[in-house]
Amino acid sequence: IPSAVVAAIVTACGQGIIVTGGINTLEKLEKSKTVVFDKTGTLTHAKLDVDDLDLIPEWEMDKDMIWEYVCAIESEAIDDHPIARAILGARLRELGVRWTERQGLLNIRNDVFDSGKGVKGEVQLENQPWRHIAVGSHRYFKDINITGTPESIRNGTMGRIVVLLAVDEKYAASFFVADAVKEDAPDVMKQLMQAGYQCGMLTGDTRESAERVSQQLGLPIIQSGALPDEKQAHIQSLQDSDNIVTMVGDGLNDAPSLAAAGVGVGLQKDSTTAIAGGAVVIVNTRLGSLIDLFKIARMTMDQVR
Ligand code: ADP
Ligand code: MG
Repeated sequence: IPSAVVAAIVTACGQGIIVTGGINTLEKLEKSKTVVFDKTGTLTHAKLDVDDLDLIPEWEMDKDMIWEYVCAIESEAIDDHPIARAILGARLRELGVRWTERQGLLNIRNDVFDSGKGVKGEVQLENQPWRHIAVGSHRYFKDINITGTPESIRNGTMGRIVVLLAVDEKYAASFFVADAVKEDAPDVMKQLMQAGYQCGMLTGDTRESAERVSQQLGLPIIQSGALPDEKQAHIQSLQDSDNIVTMVGDGLNDAPSLAAAGVGVGLQKDSTTAIAGGAVVIVNTRLGSLIDLFKIARMTMDQVR
């Protein structure tokens, strides 16, 4: 292994950038001129306020119970989706407790996570019967035949992600997750585009949410409403020997598209969830690390040659 490569990997590590695949990865990064971004959790922070909730009248009296149901089922998706983290995080903040204090108290069975759509399963709260709980997108609720879902949201969504909740196959509530663009995202996009990178966004979220982020960043949308396997197919179609695609995802539910890309870059808070097929793991959520990564790759390859 050339010493320049060792030095580069050590430098990267010091900045929370873990490069696997050694020189091969650095070489691909240097050649890559196409960068595709996932939206939720990658370009944005998914954040929720506890008040961002719209209940149907029947559940008005049991707001707390609704929170317990949504948190119970999202706890099963916490390693898979930033929205699950946003919802649980908001509730724990409100209650002022830590996750480990709640973890053992939940009764959940038969849960199924449908990547890019939502999660469902049975939940039993204290002194309550087992109930079927589902959370997810409009598309998900159509697929699993939930009744009573409103077509549009009162007062509009104001660019927020709408997360629907059903109890026993009937629509019960909507949660609104603010999807704020990360502080460093505009600057990172500008730098990449000025340096000649072709950048685009690939998201499972709605056209409306995608457009808002696209406008703020001047970043074209490749596709919105894309399911994980459609994202993967898109990456595959962009990728060939002359065009190495770097895919940047949140490292939670983007594993298939990260694996399909020439270089998969997963941004995540910690290293507890390893990325299958991802060649680079960035152990911080700073998008700016991407600029450092490209720089390190370029400088290393210049030295090696
Ligand atoms: P993105 O590509 O922007 O990261 P995803 O493909 O991960 O979006 O998710 C698409 C949509 O699926 C979300 O906007 C949300 O409506 C829904 N969804 C997925 N997982 C969950 C979950 N655990 N809880 C609630 N909604 C979810
Ligand atoms: Mg995502």
